[in-house]
Amino acid sequence: MGHDLTADPLRGKTMKKSDNWRTKSKPIAPGSVYPAKEYCSHCGLCDTYYIAHVKQACAFLGDGMAKVEKLEPIVHGRKRGGEFESRFGVYQAMCYAKVKAPIKGAQWTGLVTSLAIAMLESDRVDGVICVQNDPEDRFQPKPVIATTVDDILRAKGVKPTLSPNLNVLALLESSGLKRILFCGVGCQVQALRSVESHLNLDALYVLGTHCVDNGKRQGLEKFLNTASENPDTVLHYEFMQDYQIHFKHLDGHTEKVPYFSLPAKDLNDVIAPSCYSCFDYMNGLADLVVGYMGVPYGNVAMTQHYQQVTIRNPKGQAMFDQLKPKLSIRPTERTGNCTNFVMQTVLQEERSTNATLPKFLGKILAFVLTQLGPRGLEFAKYSIDYHTIRNYLYVKRNWQKKADRHIPGYSKSIVDEYDKDGKISDLIN
Ligand SMILES: Cc1cc2nc3c(=O)[nH]c(=O)nc-3n(C[C@H](O)[C@H](O)[C@H](O)COP(=O)(O)OP(=O)(O)OC[C@H]3O[C@@H](n4cnc5c(N)ncnc54)[C@H](O)[C@@H]3O)c2cc1C
Ligand code: SF4
Ligand code: SF4
Repeated sequence: MGHDLTADPLRGKTMKKSDNWRTKSKPIAPGSVYPAKEYCSHCGLCDTYYIAHVKQACAFLGDGMAKVEKLEPIVHGRKRGGEFESRFGVYQAMCYAKVKAPIKGAQWTGLVTSLAIAMLESDRVDGVICVQNDPEDRFQPKPVIATTVDDILRAKGVKPTLSPNLNVLALLESSGLKRILFCGVGCQVQALRSVESHLNLDALYVLGTHCVDNGKRQGLEKFLNTASENPDTVLHYEFMQDYQIHFKHLDGHTEKVPYFSLPAKDLNDVIAPSCYSCFDYMNGLADLVVGYMGVPYGNVAMTQHYQQVTIRNPKGQAMFDQLKPKLSIRPTERTGNCTNFVMQTVLQEERSTNATLPKFLGKILAFVLTQLGPRGLEFAKYSIDYHTIRNYLYVKRNWQKKADRHIPGYSKSIVDEYDKDGKISDLIN
């Protein structure tokens, strides 16, 4: 029996692997336990024969999320440097952008969909891995390899649940497609980067989105029933920078619910254990990342609103450049100081009594904070720092000995900034 000598991107050395792993490995049977057990984010890798690489690839096994910073020099040519990149990741440019003629039915202005279409139409790729929805259930993700503009358009809009994007990898090989754009969130991208050398592709582009506080499909019902007055007609929703959740409904109207009017403690179990253990909000290993939280709230619908763009490397720049004529672009902004606000949010959540504000008071508080609180990239920093500390506490409490290996150095450095007086360490026990 022969052996395939394959470069292991995480160890930087050549490892021996039996060359028949594709036929020998068995994808997880429906209903069975996944290797990362309760921490599995159902990224889809283990639904394919790439499960053979799960130990090196899974964002929740072995070195876990710390793999991000091990892979960054391989993907981007360098590691993160300084306080800004410890939050936002390696980048070469950052801006706000929106599609001048927004795509109807997209989550925001359809920047992700437009970038994907431009990649296909310019013949840089033969296929795009993206997420359509189940015809019976608009929130149920259905990953596909799109090879036409229509197929890409059918993937517009966020399906706000864990999505097995990587389950199409087995099909990819049999499809014969060699130049691929992958759209996805951090945990999926980490696993993808770890098996990239086995995909036998001529070109791989990665277009990421920010992602935080995701959950299982079943939990979404609970969240919508608690938060919206008309849960059955919600199409899309976002936790916006004006401290309110904006629910877009099927009839086109937008419902706004202040964060402070939600019973946060009742909704804790809506967020999956994987997402409480996640330290890759900013999708550090994508070539180009799209999100929204670093853009000051513009008081317009999200379908008209600027989005945040982080270009991490020349591939990301090439993707962005070809769409430039169709975009309105402006520089990033940053005002205020989020430091005290971060710790207030952490401490309030720690001692939460599930107190909520009536909606009218919640709206007043949301208005005041939007005017006086951190804005632009400082709001993004607030959100990153708060989620980093909250997840650090969760992992330290629940993962115990494995925690130190799992948490990336950049996240530990953020925690250290807030832990000078030992307040965070005291909270662990
Ligand atoms: C699960 C999830 C959580 C997010 N959370 C945040 C956040 O907290 N803060 C923030 O700033 N931004 C977040 N984003 C990014 C933001 O919501 C928008 O996706 C982004 O701004 C792109 O908008 P758009 O109009 O360009 O997207 P569209 O053009 O509508 O395209 C949406 C794309 O998202 C992909 N997609 C849909 N559902 C999923 C899924 N479940 N998993 C992976 N990919 C999917 C589709 O393939 C499609 O390509 C999140 C995105 C996702 C997918
Ligand atoms: S997160 Fe992905 S790689 Fe890890 S166990 Fe789950 S399906 Fe497998
Ligand atoms: S929050 Fe993290 S673990 Fe959860 S789906 Fe998003 S990227 Fe994956």
